[in-house]
Amino acid sequence: MTIGTVTSKPKAASIPETVQKAHDAFNRGVTKPMEWRRKQLKSMLRMYEENQDAMVEALRKDLRRSKMEALLLEVDYLINDLKNTLHHLDEWAKPVRPSKTIVNMLDDVVIYNDPYGVVLVIGAWNYPLQLLLLPMSGAIAAGNAVVVKPSELSVNCANFIAEMLPKYLDNDAVLVVEGGPKETTELLQQKFDYIFFTGGTGIGKIVYEAATKSLTPVTLELGGKSPVYIDNTVDIVVSARRILWGKFINAGQTCIAPDYVLCSKEVQDKFVEAAKKVLYEWYGEDPQKSPDLCRIVNSRHFSRLQSLLDASVNKIVVGGKTDAQDRFIEPTIVANVTEKDKIMEGEIFGPILPIVPVENAYEAIKFINAREKPLTMYIFTTNATVRDSLLNNTSSGSVCCNDTVMQMGVDTLPFGGVGHSGMGAYHGKATFDTFTHKKSCLIKNFAAIGEKLGSGRYPPYTDSNLNFIRTLMRKRQPPSLKFLPYLLAFALGVGVTYGVFAVQKMSSEDL
Ligand code: NAD
Repeated sequence: MTIGTVTSKPKAASIPETVQKAHDAFNRGVTKPMEWRRKQLKSMLRMYEENQDAMVEALRKDLRRSKMEALLLEVDYLINDLKNTLHHLDEWAKPVRPSKTIVNMLDDVVIYNDPYGVVLVIGAWNYPLQLLLLPMSGAIAAGNAVVVKPSELSVNCANFIAEMLPKYLDNDAVLVVEGGPKETTELLQQKFDYIFFTGGTGIGKIVYEAATKSLTPVTLELGGKSPVYIDNTVDIVVSARRILWGKFINAGQTCIAPDYVLCSKEVQDKFVEAAKKVLYEWYGEDPQKSPDLCRIVNSRHFSRLQSLLDASVNKIVVGGKTDAQDRFIEPTIVANVTEKDKIMEGEIFGPILPIVPVENAYEAIKFINAREKPLTMYIFTTNATVRDSLLNNTSSGSVCCNDTVMQMGVDTLPFGGVGHSGMGAYHGKATFDTFTHKKSCLIKNFAAIGEKLGSGRYPPYTDSNLNFIRTLMRKRQPPSLKFLPYLLAFALGVGVTYGVFAVQKMSSEDL
């Protein structure tokens, strides 16, 4: 070090400066070119591939996540999403030319996929990498500048993000703000062109309120109590496995985890018996020693869950063991729960599964509809009438029949809530569309015939002009193609018959 030189860490930019930097980059047109978007996305892919171990380790430190869950539910999920985006990006981004009426026959009618500008992405702690980085890459793919705010509760993942993004991505257009409620509040006072928030419904309302002041569009990915209905037509052991896996991954701290089960008393008994066997097979005699169970994120959430268990202590039929030091809660099932029980008040977000007995699907529908619309709903039945009855008479962000959580893996299914469980949706192309303003554009020319076609609109208004223009503007439905295969088959049949007939005729003439 040269004597006399003062070396000090550069002062971190303030939140308004950071947001302004992102606006400047967007306004300079940095983020719009497809080459820039591709470069950032490929760099993100490299970031995931080169830092898999660090990501697994950060998740282990924050949630004691197993390697299997870390890779399957976050790292691979991000990698697959990025590869899919890179594969389809040109097709998604290109302008769309929709159908037009005769009056616009000679004009260009185009929908441009415009980026919004600067997007704010606020993440939650339960899937701290996936829930922040997936919308972030979607915003970049759509040509936006982005400011991300990871959750302060998953501190190791937040540090990973804050350290890695500047190394791999454009520092002018992709920026990280670390912090909690104070920093998020300050961020929400800045001007953004889109806000994408994942978190609880209570904070979601705060974000929505802040966004309305500047009419900023939002996606709110919120939570809620997602029900499971099981009837007596299903394979109860397979159903138990699928429900318990969805419930106990990440120690129940999953937004689409089954929150509670609705079933008859008879199914409840069978389910509890099957669940005991399954949980024993998975986690052994002492589940606390299993390397596959996550821990509760912090002592505040542990105490919240402990108080739910304390209030249900007489109804626990499986599990119930806890260890505050280790923030461990054993996978627990509570039976014969009623709507008055404390555990039915809010989203559980932990490894406790209550069962509420109901007589039938009709009662289950009534129970679900008496509450806020859930993020997702699970229906376990082989009876199509029962399934359709639940599907058609309830409202939820998504539905998965005869499994749990796996709907997340289908990237052609937009993922999001409805009502109190959120607004907007993403995943696959829906992510790109979320961060894209569909800019409609009509491009006319000065050709004489075009002017003639449109001239009926000009005064003086006459009935004949009115009739003319109305005829031109009438939307014509293209002829239905549903009978085309039959027509083709018929034509083929006629052709073949005629051919056979002609060959026979020729042969008989030859003779
Ligand atoms: P949270 O709402 O407490 O926090 C989310 C974000 O908001 C964090 O980044 C946090 O720093 C910030 N925040 C906290 N308090 C704030 C305040 N007063 N003002 C402004 N910002 C504030 O959510 P969480 O505890 O991180 O996550 C759990 C919740 O998120 C659950 O309800 C869960 O269902 C939901 N969730 C939903 C989805 C989904 O995709 N729909 C995914 C994961 C989690």
